[in-house]
Amino acid sequence: MNAQPIAGTCEACGFALLVERKKGGKTVHQCADKPCSAIQDESAAESESED
Ligand SMILES: [Zn+2]
Repeated sequence: MNAQPIAGTCEACGFALLVERKKGGKTVHQCADKPCSAIQDESAAESESED
C-alpha cells in the first residue's frame, strides 16, 4: 500500500488528514479516516491553500 499522509481536509467529513495514493498512474487524495476514506475531488485538492 503506497499511502502517504498529506496535509488537507476531507471534503466529505472534515477530517484533518488525507493520504496520497497512486492509482493507475495518477495520484489521488483520500480521506485518512478509515470509515470515510472518501476520494477527494482533484480540482478541490489542487486549489487547497498549502503554502
Ligand atoms: Zn473523510
